[in-house]
Amino acid sequence: MRTPEELSELFRQRGRKVTPQRQCIFRVLEGNVTHPSAEVVYEAARAEMPTISLKTVYQTLNDLAELGEIQALDLGTGMARFDPNVDGAHHHLVCHECGKVRDLYADLDGLTIGQSDAQGYDVRSAEVVFRGRCEDCRTAEGAGAGASAGSGRRASFRAATTATE
Ligand SMILES: [Zn+2]
Ligand SMILES: [Zn+2]
Repeated sequence: MRTPEELSELFRQRGRKVTPQRQCIFRVLEGNVTHPSAEVVYEAARAEMPTISLKTVYQTLNDLAELGEIQALDLGTGMARFDPNVDGAHHHLVCHECGKVRDLYADLDGLTIGQSDAQGYDVRSAEVVFRGRCEDCRTAEGAGAGASAGSGRRASFRAATTATE
């Protein structure tokens, strides 16, 4: 995603509204690695600008996605998540307990499927979601359950691939 200043310029060029509320949303998203939901963006923006509406947040996120500045992701956490990192080379780590999402750069170039598995699809890209419990959830559980349960437990990572186009 571009900087808030560049986004304001881009929005003007494309004939889209630039308001202080929208610029506040740009700032919330800048450098944001948490893959926030619309509600989380709304809460963060509202802390700075109490008059902002959820509708404005949705419209701005929608505009940003249409302009290719952010990506809307369905990572199975129950709500759309928005990613200002539109670098197509990255994958995601998802906590199945609290829904925390982080970018993952892993060399998965070897990930291929055979012609018969592709079923005639001209496969161009694949995203891999690694699921498990994040460090915070693991720490919280360890603290709650006492020291006894700590050893021998491993986060189980399940990979799900989605092929597009
Ligand atoms: Zn977690
Ligand atoms: Zn991401």
